[in-house]
Amino acid sequence: MALVKCPHCEQRFDREVVKNFVLYKNRYYHGDCYDRKMAEIKKEEKEKEEKKLKQANKKEKEKIDKVNLENFIKDLFGVPTLSYVMKAQIKRYVEKEGFTYSGIHGTLNYFFVLKGNSTKNAQGIGIVPYVYEDAKKYYTKKAAQEKANAGFDGQLSVEVKVAAPQVTATKMTKRRVLVLEEED
Ligand SMILES: [Zn+2]
Repeated sequence: MALVKCPHCEQRFDREVVKNFVLYKNRYYHGDCYDRKMAEIKKEEKEKEEKKLKQANKKEKEKIDKVNLENFIKDLFGVPTLSYVMKAQIKRYVEKEGFTYSGIHGTLNYFFVLKGNSTKNAQGIGIVPYVYEDAKKYYTKKAAQEKANAGFDGQLSVEVKVAAPQVTATKMTKRRVLVLEEED
């Protein structure tokens, strides 16, 4: 008798009777349990890698979004650099309010460009918290409309394809004629 406990299924087995076992890190696994354990480890590692990559991509996107926002503000206010107040506002909105750089960007675009408000008396970008939700609603609605339009366009292209069978019919007739000639 050489009883051991498989760490995967936690069942005891006699390794002198059960021949299909694997010794891994000083523990005895059933052969199948070892395969399952390895598959789990592999899956976990893959998920970890994917998560890491996702986070890296998110950070990279945030960096780009921040630069885009800063450039947009410079153009909007006609200034070569962001004022101390503007920088502090962005930092506060992102860190304390949970806004995103692209969200702030969209909000400023909504309020100053689309709504045509002047930047003349603006307190930096202090308007953002007051119209952020409105702007979000506007863009969400717009995105839904665009999605609906895309679906509608898809329907149209399906209808256009109805003409196709006629071409096939013509081809078939021609082929049949060709076969008849060959038989002659
Ligand atoms: Zn087992």
